[in-house]
Amino acid sequence: MKNIVIFGAPGSGKGTQSDKIVEKYGFKHISTGDVLRGEIKNGTELGKTAKGYIDNGQLIPDSLMIDILASVYDSFGAVEGVIFDGFPRTIPQAEALKQMLAERGTEVSVMLNLDVPEAELMDRLIKRGQISGRADDNEETIKKRLVVYQEQTSPLIEWYQNEGKHTHIQGSGELEKIFADICEAIDKV
Ligand code: ATP
Ligand code: MG
Repeated sequence: MKNIVIFGAPGSGKGTQSDKIVEKYGFKHISTGDVLRGEIKNGTELGKTAKGYIDNGQLIPDSLMIDILASVYDSFGAVEGVIFDGFPRTIPQAEALKQMLAERGTEVSVMLNLDVPEAELMDRLIKRGQISGRADDNEETIKKRLVVYQEQTSPLIEWYQNEGKHTHIQGSGELEKIFADICEAIDKV
């Protein structure tokens, strides 16, 4: 059982690379962003709460995210691997993930840190917004999300380094080259 954390700033390619991992390895994929967008689309109470935060470039409160994550994880049953995409995004979330997995007799296998220069992130997200129509992919909200990433999420790099789980992945350049580096890291654990 492999638990893969795919990590990176907004627009770093977590979703794209996760799809490729799913295709090759048959792992289950939890994208907290996709879960929240699904809730918004379905007009649930959770969706209504989440929308306020997402449209403003902010993170959803940890306690809410942690509950959602555990329930999605448990719905998978026995699987060969799980990809965590967009979670953890804060140190309390990383601690909660560690505890949740320990309670289930497992642990994070590796954290893949997709590293992309900020100017390229901005470029990618503005282009994605034009195609996807995602409400949070506009210049003003993207800037806020990048600040939130720097302040609340990037400290996780050091946190996972201390856990001995961090692997740096060059996240710009050829898609297939990035994926090859990811596969190498997954095959090692
Ligand atoms: P990428 O482009 O690399 O796939 P992203 O950052 O553009 O990633 P999502 O991961 O889809 O996008 O997240 C979108 C929004 O959902 C976040 O800005 C945040 O408001 C909310 N969100 C997602 N995951 C979490 C989380 N773990 N904790 C709090 N909020 C979250
Ligand atoms: Mg995503």
